[in-house]
Amino acid sequence: MRSWHLIKPNLILSEPIWSLTPEVMAKFGLRGLILDVDDTLVGNHEIEASPEVQQWIALMQQHYQIWLISNNPNTRRIQRVAEALGLESYRSRAAKPSRRVVREALVAMQLLPEQVAMVGDRLFTDTLVGNRLGMFTVLVQPIEPVKAPKKSWLNGRSQLLRSWEFWLARLSGVNI
Ligand SMILES: [Mg+2]
Repeated sequence: MRSWHLIKPNLILSEPIWSLTPEVMAKFGLRGLILDVDDTLVGNHEIEASPEVQQWIALMQQHYQIWLISNNPNTRRIQRVAEALGLESYRSRAAKPSRRVVREALVAMQLLPEQVAMVGDRLFTDTLVGNRLGMFTVLVQPIEPVKAPKKSWLNGRSQLLRSWEFWLARLSGVNI
């Protein structure tokens, strides 16, 4: 990949998603949010978000349009996550970093790409798709699962992949 700058987020938050406050949104002129689901809003396989995330969504919903866009193939689960948070707009099977589904959301929001934050925990899917579309990209820390985290190989794999993405990005000269 020649365009390594495309995996550099505009903003890296050292905490989970609730650290993206209305003040930060205002500072960067942002009016909409497209959110990753797994490890960004809820733990892998979970449906119910933590109280912190629920409160954050309730606050942000008052001010901004919010879409959930997940690569997860389990549409029913993503629907249940959205419904539990009181959100109507969601997509599963998005195949990020493919632009198609995210672009459809931007059109539906009737906002310019630079007015919308693409928020997620992964460089090669969330950040990459957002930067490809000219959005404002925000990398957040993965969320702790609500239930006692199982030491499943899937969770371990997810963390390992994330670390590998950072390593590869830095190796390629991306300053993150
Ligand atoms: Mg994720």
